[in-house]
Amino acid sequence: MDCIFCKIINGEIPCHKLAENDHAIAFLDIMPITKGHFLVIPKKHFEFAEEAPEDLMANLMILATGIASATKKALKCDGINFIINSGKIAGQVVPHVHLHVVPRYNDDAICWPWPQGELDNETASVLINSIVNEL
Ligand code: 5GP
Ligand code: ZN
Repeated sequence: MDCIFCKIINGEIPCHKLAENDHAIAFLDIMPITKGHFLVIPKKHFEFAEEAPEDLMANLMILATGIASATKKALKCDGINFIINSGKIAGQVVPHVHLHVVPRYNDDAICWPWPQGELDNETASVLINSIVNEL
């Protein structure tokens, strides 16, 4: 499979590795949004976060929070965004699950929130009822 992140895992493409465990690896993003922006990816290829095994996803977060805490001390950032883009419309470019960890600085130029709407009861009941059957 022609996946750039699988190639990083296999050592075919170099990266600035921060840490790894049996199931995941963390490395600096090649085009950082802010100073210290890194990615955490599973060693096994899955395209979408919601289709990957839940213990694997939990594992990504464990590795991410440990490194994020070290990043906070080392780079003295003021906050951190943990982001997963799943699907093209959500901004996913690389089709291998990855968690972005983006250190935030009081003087950075990134804006949150996205435009927000109003909660509607129909969506709430459709979702709540379907979750009962899924979990
Ligand atoms: P996405 O838009 O899919 O959520 O984010 C993909 C991320 O992977 C981007 O932030 C991009 O800069 C990063 N990226 C793409 N190719 C490489 C690469 O070869 N090496 C590293 N370290 N990061 C990459
Ligand atoms: Zn892959």
